Amino acid sequence: MSKPVVAIVGRPNVGKSTLFNALAGDKISIVKDTPGVTRDRIYADVTWLDKEFTMIDTGGIEPDSSDIILSQMREQAQIAIDTADVIIFITDVHQGLVDSDAKVADMLRRSGKPVVLVVNKVDSVQKYMMDVYEFYNLGIGEPFAISAANRQGLGDMLDEVTKYFPEDTGEDEDSDIPKIAIVGKPNVGKSSLVNKLLGEDRVIVSDIAGTTRDAVDTKVTWNGKEYIFIDTAGLRRKAKVKEEIERFSVIRTVTAVERADLVVVMIDASEGVTEQDAKIAGIAHEKGKGVIIAVNKWDAIEKNDKTIYKHTNRIREVLSFMPYAEIVFISAKTGLRISRMFETLDAVIENQTMRIQTGVLNEILAEAVAMQQPPSDKGKRLKIFYMTQVAVKPPTFVIFVNDKELMHFSYTRYLENKIRDAFDFGGTPLRFIVRERG
Ligand code: GDP
Ligand code: GDP
Repeated sequence: MSKPVVAIVGRPNVGKSTLFNALAGDKISIVKDTPGVTRDRIYADVTWLDKEFTMIDTGGIEPDSSDIILSQMREQAQIAIDTADVIIFITDVHQGLVDSDAKVADMLRRSGKPVVLVVNKVDSVQKYMMDVYEFYNLGIGEPFAISAANRQGLGDMLDEVTKYFPEDTGEDEDSDIPKIAIVGKPNVGKSSLVNKLLGEDRVIVSDIAGTTRDAVDTKVTWNGKEYIFIDTAGLRRKAKVKEEIERFSVIRTVTAVERADLVVVMIDASEGVTEQDAKIAGIAHEKGKGVIIAVNKWDAIEKNDKTIYKHTNRIREVLSFMPYAEIVFISAKTGLRISRMFETLDAVIENQTMRIQTGVLNEILAEAVAMQQPPSDKGKRLKIFYMTQVAVKPPTFVIFVNDKELMHFSYTRYLENKIRDAFDFGGTPLRFIVRERG
């Protein structure tokens, strides 16, 4: 089950970033070698008691553009309505109720999405409680008084937020069908690919109305197997929001990737792989999803016997943080190698859910350790007792050692490579958890 999405909406300076940082804490998912996706803190993974969710900050309003604040707020609110399961609408007790708050509150109420109204900067409850009551006038329910700066009131607020999360009933009848998100910068050919799939007569298509989100997913049958393409309604829509603001496309990508098992990252062959592609691919990497790089518009470029090799090298270089990603060269326009793409999807699905027996794993471990000694520090050497796989999607391994501090990043990498040499984990990241055995 994918994690619920919570969006924070509010005027500039009410404390959105402060709240965001207070909730995300050090949990903000910055994977060291992933390019700058999360450094601008658009999203973060949050855990509250036994609940997990992805939080997005729809912010990004320039404080000096006061004349257009309302229109930007509407835009933000629309992003939240489109992508979130629950919306936190945050206001500021010092500034009091302002007109744009009322307008945005109306918009949120009409959307029917669960909204939690939060009044921030209530650093002293006694002093401000009367002012907080005023926010009842927004007509979107009880205001939750918090102080984001002092981390007060966050527990009650989060209890309210998580109350609206969809129940995991385990009754999702499509849960066994792989969910695929097609992502990529504007104009790489995402809609063309979906349209091609819809046009193919080997493909049977049906729309599934999203249960918790308004997104419409498309079920596609290819060679007798079913696949769900996420949020393809947005891709199929004729009048696409042009010049989508960067933040919006990141949010869209994050929420689509969150719901997906597999991510197809589309790259434009005629432009080659770019830093923007790396940012987008980085989201899939951080979320631990299966990844296929689809180099599109292969029909449109001049080729010789070195072209594939050159593209592959360049992609491996720019996307060096995900050497496991599979690469396919396709044309959404002509249909070139789209079957190959589906074959690769099938292979990656299998790899993501593969379980390796502990015995076999430890044979590999023993051999690896014999070939290259584990690191040591100040006369103490790392001892690795054993390793076991604890999860799939992505395959996750726990390594039991004598001293965690001694487990160097490069040695984990070395073990990962040994495991990859022995098994076909192509297309899926692997996770490693190092634990000390008492
Ligand atoms: P954003 O523009 O909505 O992201 O707002 P920021 O998070 O940047 O906060 C704007 C200002 O309000 C900053 O100076 C914060 O330090 C301040 N602020 C945020 N939360 C609180 C709070 O709970 N109490 C007080 N007194 N100030 C706060
Ligand atoms: P999106 O913004 O990622 O959804 O991209 P579109 O599907 O709208 O495609 C952008 C442009 O690239 C359109 O003009 C398409 O006709 C063109 N295009 C898409 N796929 C291909 C392809 O495989 N080959 C060629 N030559 N053009 C393509």
